Amino acid sequence: MNVLIVEDEKALTAELEIFLTNCNYICETCFDGTSASERIATNLYDFILIDLGLPDYEGLDLLKEAKKYNPEAACIILTARAEVYDRIKGLDLGADDYLAKPFSLLELQSRMQAIIRRKFGLKNSVITLGDFLIDLTNRTIAHGETLINTITKKEFDLVAYLILHKNRTLTRSQLSEHIWGSIVNDDYDSNYIDAHIKNIRKKLNAYGAPDWIETVRGLGYRININN
Ligand code: CA
Repeated sequence: MNVLIVEDEKALTAELEIFLTNCNYICETCFDGTSASERIATNLYDFILIDLGLPDYEGLDLLKEAKKYNPEAACIILTARAEVYDRIKGLDLGADDYLAKPFSLLELQSRMQAIIRRKFGLKNSVITLGDFLIDLTNRTIAHGETLINTITKKEFDLVAYLILHKNRTLTRSQLSEHIWGSIVNDDYDSNYIDAHIKNIRKKLNAYGAPDWIETVRGLGYRININN
């Protein structure tokens, strides 16, 4: 999942970026509202963290833009302001959560996980697909009782992203943008997503047919889950 961090305190931004990268998020950072506004209008994110007190921009306006151009992104507002008013207004404008500074990084992580569970309606973080068990919290794939340890981080991210967006076809460029970030250029996209899916299938095939990963011809990939 990709995250845009909009925060003018550079030390905090760096701390957030390191922490979230370690939590397997792809991070982009902006230190001001103007460049954040451009990114929001151009790229699609899973999470947007918005500091309300930006030097050049009204944070709440940025939130409005995020809701408009990135309707699927979860927005978390970060505020140093003691006023309850801004937080309420942020939530009214559609922010998914807020954190008052200073906040603990672990709390941010658990709020983000809660948003993911809520947004994707996950009752359980372990998903059963045929004989495979995919554990989204511990980031593991098992076949029956056997843990499969050949799956790389990125391969897991691909499977997890398709599971979260179950019953929906995701294009190669969507998968690329959300799992590798917007840095990758478009021409390169389709081939390497296909190569990764091929590798995942090959690795899982050593245990059983992963026929739940569906190729949608001309479009992309999907995973169907009925429950
Ligand atoms: Ca600030």
